[in-house]
Formats: sequence, C-alpha cells, structure tokens
Amino acid sequence: MTEPIPNCPECGASWYDGITCQDAFHQMLFWENENPANGTVHHLTVICYHIQHPSLYSPEGLNYAKQLLAAFLVEKLSPDEIRKRSRAQVDSSQRTWRIKGTPDHHSDHPHSITWTITAVDVIASGSKNYCANVERWARSIHKALETAPEP
Ligand SMILES: [Zn+2]
Repeated sequence: MTEPIPNCPECGASWYDGITCQDAFHQMLFWENENPANGTVHHLTVICYHIQHPSLYSPEGLNYAKQLLAAFLVEKLSPDEIRKRSRAQVDSSQRTWRIKGTPDHHSDHPHSITWTITAVDVIASGSKNYCANVERWARSIHKALETAPEP
C-alpha cells in the first residue's frame, strides 16, 4: 500500500517526495541567490508564489499583487519602473492597508482556480532555464486569473 500523495490545501499542487510548496519557494530563492542571472525574475517568483497561496496576503495585498503581475507581463514594466510608479501606493508610511495576511484578515480566491503550473512544477523542471520557467509560471497564473469564472 502506498500513502496517497498530499496536496497543497491552497494551490492544489501534489507534494511528491514530501516537497511542499514552501520548500519549492525556498529552493527558488536559493537558485536566485546562487546565480545572479536567476535573480532577475525574483519579483515574479514572489508574486506567483503568493498569488497561489493567497492566505499570505490581505485582500488588498492580493489585489495589488494581481495588478503588479499584469503590469509586469502586459505592460512589460521593470521592477524599478513599478517601484517609481507605485511609491505612493505602497509606501508603508502612506499606505493604510497591509500587504501581508493575518489569521483573521487574509485572502482566498473567491472560486477555486485550477493552476496549470505550481511552485512544485517549477522546481521539478530544474535550475536550467529557470528564468524561462518562472516566466511561463507567471503567464499561466495571469491567464488562469483572467479566465477564471466570476464568483
Ligand atoms: Zn501550494
């Protein structure tokens, strides 16, 4: 008898070999630190991981993350350009909302979204072509959010 493979309660990824989404996220951060070329997609890695695990965000934070993802992918803005544009919006001294979720104030996707690529999949593809894999992950998330039925 084999144990069933556990699934991530948030993004639905199968945790093969006991590798959780958080483990996968830490592995990505490691690859980014290890190789500066991989670090160029860091902004996407963080947003993708958090959008698929929305309890880490407040509802306002999740909305902001979706806007950021669209700005990166559709408007093709760089992290620097975003930083300049949204300084007032996210400057913690001026912001009245929190980005991070707390146990009683956090997000959830209003309808369950089927993700075609998860953090675990990105890791399974290995560190070779890491940037391209993260970009593909980001695009798949953007598409899933756009095509998700309204609640
Ligand atoms: Zn997950």
